[in-house]
Amino acid sequence: MATNGSPELLIVMGPEATPDQTDHVVARLEEAGVDARVSRGREATVIGAIGDRELLATLPVEGYPGVEQVVPIIKPYRLVARELAADPTVIDVEGHRLGDTFFGLIAGPCSVESREQTLTTARVVADAGATMLRGGAFKPRTSPYTFQGLGIEALELLREAKAETGLPIVTELMDPRHVEEVVEAADVIQIGARNSQNFLLLSEVGRAEKPVLLKRGLSTSVEELLMAAEYVAKEGNDRIILCERGIRTFERSTRYTLDLGSVAVLKHETHLPVIVDPSHAAGRRDLVLPLARAAVAVGADGIIVESHPRPEEALCDGPQQIPTGEFGNFAAEVGALVGLMGKQIG
Ligand code: PEP
Ligand code: MN
Repeated sequence: MATNGSPELLIVMGPEATPDQTDHVVARLEEAGVDARVSRGREATVIGAIGDRELLATLPVEGYPGVEQVVPIIKPYRLVARELAADPTVIDVEGHRLGDTFFGLIAGPCSVESREQTLTTARVVADAGATMLRGGAFKPRTSPYTFQGLGIEALELLREAKAETGLPIVTELMDPRHVEEVVEAADVIQIGARNSQNFLLLSEVGRAEKPVLLKRGLSTSVEELLMAAEYVAKEGNDRIILCERGIRTFERSTRYTLDLGSVAVLKHETHLPVIVDPSHAAGRRDLVLPLARAAVAVGADGIIVESHPRPEEALCDGPQQIPTGEFGNFAAEVGALVGLMGKQIG
């Protein structure tokens, strides 16, 4: 196990290395009390060695058979670092893939408000080719006087929507006291912008058996987002999807400022998939499609968008929700660009 926060090693196995040689390196590391994580890629096998720096320095790793190169990790994050995985991470959610050449189209209402609203939206987005259904059961609202979500009842409605459409469910976990219920109902556990650095919650979902969609906080830097993801990965859950959803700047013409540069940086820094939420960034529906297009073009691995049968009646985020009547066109426009990027909706 890791004993302190010091930098560690990446061990790159040569192209001719055998699985036995990789196992041998792992066994030597583990014997010495060092945590070893193996990533077998198309081109190479990489072992991340995480443990005490001084202890690692005593191991003759370079001399082990099959080892080609030993590289110290100097970044503050390790498990999520690009270098640690030989290939980009592809996350499989009930047969829908997201990452590398697979683009995720996650859509649904901001919040689950009623059975009719949830099922109508689920049917429309499923028909339009969405790969997952979003919908908040527990809502993080700025004002304590506004709709806070239907809670457990909403999880039931999401379950029903999944049973009917087959779409996996993405829903937010806000409170460690609801871990059991949310993890059970969700196929992907969302950690919202406001909990992006709630380290106890991050560790909690790090122990869950479901993938995590981790949104960037309103004032969280790219490095802080990666450190937040590291909290999840450290507990053993490496199925993490990062999400750029706009940050707070001086600019008031959009709800938040969509930082597309962060997507390009993240794709460089991490093997994890990165998606974009154009809805919360824009705050108004006429800007959602242009921002979604920009997300595809910058190399995002997916988008998460809000849609509602009657946005004017929505209990939350009405102005930015795409009316379900327009969702088919929206999905077709996005899909065309996804194809141009050499990807497919997964
Ligand atoms: C949401 O996706 O429902 C949401 C509340 O988004 P954010 O956490 O990015 O504000
Ligand atoms: Mn919303």
